[in-house]
Amino acid sequence: MKHVVIIGAGLGGLVTGYLLSQRGCRVTVLERSAHAGGCLQSFQRAGVRFDTGFHIVGGLEETNPMYYFFKELDLLKLPWISLRGQGVFLDDTYYALPCGHEEFYRYFADLFPHEKDNLRRYFETFKTIVSSPLQDTMPYWEQGAWDFLYRTIGDAKLRDILSGHSMIMEMNREKLPLFAYAEILNSFITSTSRLAEGSQPVVNHLVQGIENSANHVYCKAAVSGILEKNGCAVGVKLEDGTIVDADMVVSAINPIQTVSLLAADSAVNKVYVRRISNLSCSMGCFTVNIKLKPGMVNMRQEPVYVHAKGADLWNMDTSEIRHLMVYYYPEQQAVDLLTPMMWDKVKKWNGESPDARSQEYAMMKQQTAEQCFSLAESLIPNLREAISDYWSSTPLTWHTYLNAHQGSAFGIMKDYKSPITTVFQPRTPLKGLYITGQSMVLHGIMGTTVSAFQTAAMIEPDIFTWPSRNVTAPAFSFL
Ligand SMILES: Cc1cc2nc3c(=O)[nH]c(=O)nc-3n(C[C@H](O)[C@H](O)[C@H](O)COP(=O)(O)OP(=O)(O)OC[C@H]3O[C@@H](n4cnc5c(N)ncnc54)[C@H](O)[C@@H]3O)c2cc1C
Repeated sequence: MKHVVIIGAGLGGLVTGYLLSQRGCRVTVLERSAHAGGCLQSFQRAGVRFDTGFHIVGGLEETNPMYYFFKELDLLKLPWISLRGQGVFLDDTYYALPCGHEEFYRYFADLFPHEKDNLRRYFETFKTIVSSPLQDTMPYWEQGAWDFLYRTIGDAKLRDILSGHSMIMEMNREKLPLFAYAEILNSFITSTSRLAEGSQPVVNHLVQGIENSANHVYCKAAVSGILEKNGCAVGVKLEDGTIVDADMVVSAINPIQTVSLLAADSAVNKVYVRRISNLSCSMGCFTVNIKLKPGMVNMRQEPVYVHAKGADLWNMDTSEIRHLMVYYYPEQQAVDLLTPMMWDKVKKWNGESPDARSQEYAMMKQQTAEQCFSLAESLIPNLREAISDYWSSTPLTWHTYLNAHQGSAFGIMKDYKSPITTVFQPRTPLKGLYITGQSMVLHGIMGTTVSAFQTAAMIEPDIFTWPSRNVTAPAFSFL
């Protein structure tokens, strides 16, 4: 029986572990923090449950491959709530973007009749991208999303609304490939769902599935090195000195951290290590988790992306707060505000223990939260009055508690000028060492899940079968 050690119990590590456990492998998942789940954990504050990362998932309807991935993982049995769409609040106007391709098209065609033909071309390109094999989609990796949008849509306001989902990916004019923009946005246009009980049940189900097959997920088990023998990965070493032998190792953490676990005399080519170590990561996130006073706020349950007047929708690196995702928990009278934040803003406090972080850091958090409230008040005018209590986190929080490299929310930043170096295959130059997780091809629940299937299928090839003829494989099934 193959023994597979998996580094990291985020979605990537847990899905890989679950699939391999179901196929009779011996699986050991090692997680650095006290709880499994990574960005999928929920946490409690003053009796309210908040989600860490995952709030919504795209593409769970039956015509989409994600449905079948979740079916295979037995995750469809969870109480998913299908949302009507998502909201974009821009220049004092609320745009209720519906789900469904045709509905989405019609919504915009009615608002911008002079852009009908351009909108058709926009959606036709999306359809081509999500339904094509790799050899046909390579040009979309090499094309910038912004360039495509600018060339296809003439009306600047329409371009802004179509760019409004600023917290589901980093809208980066210089880097974001059209492929990533189209795949991610398309999944949320086809359908958007949430879980009434938050993301924790996903974690619990996957951990249980692994442990029911007599395998284990160990927390507080930080991996400090990957062991090699004769050019093969043969296990890992933990920070406490424990050695765990394995036939194969799957690293489900950021590739920059994976290569840092290799020994100085590793058989892996130093050029490969240097190339990966020098890659840049996506933006991080500043989050305010708010407990509301009962009955004071009553929002629709669709997430809303709020943008400051005159904000550049393709610039996430601003000193002022210009973009927010507002997520309402209708079951619990609570709201999350999420806004982009770069590592540079917090890196000077890295190294200080969480308890010792300075007054200056606390003040920065408080001022940023106040700015978030001001922007959110354009959508919820009585927000400040309705706050019972709130807690905030920065990229430093993610870096400290989830070991997210530089607090990045989405892992390695994809770059259309350099797609080959920013997209990863599950195999590495070290025999027996595989990688998975959000940095591989696409981040998010969809990207991370698909990557985990791809990686698990490298070890147990029967895993990956496309479920039905009329479901198109996402283009990244080439891996
Ligand atoms: C604020 C925020 C909001 C988001 N919202 C959404 C959303 O609504 N919808 C969506 O689809 N996606 C969303 N995402 C993205 C999504 O959550 C991630 O893409 C996905 O969960 C990443 O999973 P992962 O397994 O690759 O990484 P992670 O969740 O980061 O898991 C990696 C795990 O490895 C562990 N680890 C690290 N180093 C070691 C080590 N040396 N030894 C052992 N363990 C280690 C970490 O502690 C962590 O548990 C959001 C992300 C963020 C940050």
